[in-house]
Amino acid sequence: MGAKAELGEGPSWDARRKLLYWVDITRFKLHVYNPLTKQDMTFNVGQYIGAVVPRRSGGVVMALQHGFYAFDFETWQMTLLGAVELDKPNNRFNDGKCDAAGRFWAGTMAHDYAPGAGSLYYLDTDCTIKKVIANVTISNGITWSPDNSVMYYIDSPTLKVMSYDFNLATAELSNPRVAAEVGQGEAFPDGMTSDEEGMLWVAVWNGYAVKRLDPGTGRLLETVNVPAKRTTSCVFGGDRLTELYITSARIGLEEDVLANEPNAGGVFVLKTGVRGMPTYAFGG
Ligand code: CA
Repeated sequence: MGAKAELGEGPSWDARRKLLYWVDITRFKLHVYNPLTKQDMTFNVGQYIGAVVPRRSGGVVMALQHGFYAFDFETWQMTLLGAVELDKPNNRFNDGKCDAAGRFWAGTMAHDYAPGAGSLYYLDTDCTIKKVIANVTISNGITWSPDNSVMYYIDSPTLKVMSYDFNLATAELSNPRVAAEVGQGEAFPDGMTSDEEGMLWVAVWNGYAVKRLDPGTGRLLETVNVPAKRTTSCVFGGDRLTELYITSARIGLEEDVLANEPNAGGVFVLKTGVRGMPTYAFGG
């Protein structure tokens, strides 16, 4: 899809409605893409939008600049569910995703990438918010193992995917360790998702790629080349979860790079041999 987004990001798949949700962070836009009709609708939410997830009770929940907001497609109404970091005007929410229990996890970062200025939070199904990890610089990809016993998390400048033992009942994280190292120099790990075999699919910013990695060994299994330098995130969609939707960005690219990348900022789709893990909806 040649959307030419400035900073396309944060995709999720709504299996009930067969829709791809994604965001253009810096243009404040929620995108709703219907792969059947190829129609891509946008809504301007009036502030930075880092991620969007489906909601079990209908509509979506978004991580906007400082808060989690519900959006109702019938009324076009936005409702604040909970806010964080109102004392940090230079921060905003970035990437996020729901766990299998319906909690919406999302992290923050400073506009100027100030080291350690961000944190990772989750919005629980009762709409309380908990801070889980502090001292994060660019909070990015989050995903879980198929049995929900491990959570994977990326703070981009570390060039690492971290593993945590995860308790789905309590949301408790423990035993942090490095699952894989991704990227070098200006190329860093951005958004990610996982598949039924427990492997990770990591988008590489400045890397023209999504990399499939084994978090057990850290080994690179496959590189999917993407015709956009700033590959930002990915999610499995389609009826069988065998279509990998990949978002990308145009922001900050030099004119000569853009001239060679007519599709930068687009959403790309790749048929995969393996089935992806489903997008979990917000349970509150
Ligand atoms: Ca990102």
